[in-house]
Amino acid sequence: MIFYGTRAKSLGAQALGGVACQSCGQSGVVAHVFQKYFHIFWIPVLPYKKLVATECARCQQALAGEDVPPMYQAQLETFRASVKTPWYMYTGLVLILFLVAGGYYVYQKNQELRASYVAHPQVGDLYVIDVQKGLALKDAQYPFRVLKITNVKDKTVTLVSGHYEYSAASGATEAIDAGKADELAYFLLGDEFSLSIEQLQTLLGQGHIRYVTRRGK
Ligand SMILES: [Zn+2]
Repeated sequence: MIFYGTRAKSLGAQALGGVACQSCGQSGVVAHVFQKYFHIFWIPVLPYKKLVATECARCQQALAGEDVPPMYQAQLETFRASVKTPWYMYTGLVLILFLVAGGYYVYQKNQELRASYVAHPQVGDLYVIDVQKGLALKDAQYPFRVLKITNVKDKTVTLVSGHYEYSAASGATEAIDAGKADELAYFLLGDEFSLSIEQLQTLLGQGHIRYVTRRGK
């Protein structure tokens, strides 16, 4: 299956005036302009070249590229330049730009939500933190753990760490998504520690907090 490639579309035809066909000597040579473009799933993404070709209406001789006689060239060039590339040749590019802009918007909204969760923590908030780099936990074999806020007082939060360690942050977020972190036994109760909101914000700024979620939202 071909997902992408190049194609050509005819943009128009025009009879050449005052020139005779090299093959049959009759008038009636018609010029065609083709737009070459890249496509993805047959959606035009980007036009890149206009091609011209000629065809004799009487003897059907077709010529393109270097085979086109020099005497045709001036008219061909004028015709080629007069044919505008239609806007829909950029359809795919516009779609891609919308997707990228949409993705960036979602990313920005997530960043803002994380920053607001960290600035105004609530009991039950779940964090995925790189505890090796962020909290310097020496006994951690793998960097990522799920931590839960168990208390918020003034500008300080109390956190409890999950039993499990993950080599990738995605492993920890998957555990949260699968509801494992909602089970009481997931956390090492009785082993809480405290961080100030400012420390949490520093961890977020340093990229050690990979994920924050508020349950019931
Ligand atoms: Zn001809």
